Amino acid sequence: MASGSRQVRGVHLDSQTRCAHYRQLIDVIALRHACCDAWYPCHLCHRELADHPAVPWPAARGTEPAVLCGVCGHEMTAAEYLGTGSCPACQALFNPGCKAHAPLYFEPPLRP
Ligand SMILES: [Zn+2]
Ligand SMILES: [Zn+2]
Ligand SMILES: [Zn+2]
Repeated sequence: MASGSRQVRGVHLDSQTRCAHYRQLIDVIALRHACCDAWYPCHLCHRELADHPAVPWPAARGTEPAVLCGVCGHEMTAAEYLGTGSCPACQALFNPGCKAHAPLYFEPPLRP
């Protein structure tokens, strides 16, 4: 499976973690949720499938992987993901629009 050993939950999930809400070629990441420690392709999938509100990934856990490349399964921290436009491992392009939603997924860094 392309997303490595991680189990990603999503609505109409494809093999590169696209979902019912974000289906463009470049929509290939999954995001870890601190509330349930589960990986979802987007916040809308979490809203539909989880039975609790989403909690952004805590800044205090910023050294743990919180983003997954759906193409190759490479895992990144929030800072690594936010600092790149493509996967460091397989060079798959990431949708720059996802970063506009970053506050939904990640707490702001401890240090600005
Ligand atoms: Zn959750
Ligand atoms: Zn979704
Ligand atoms: Zn990759």
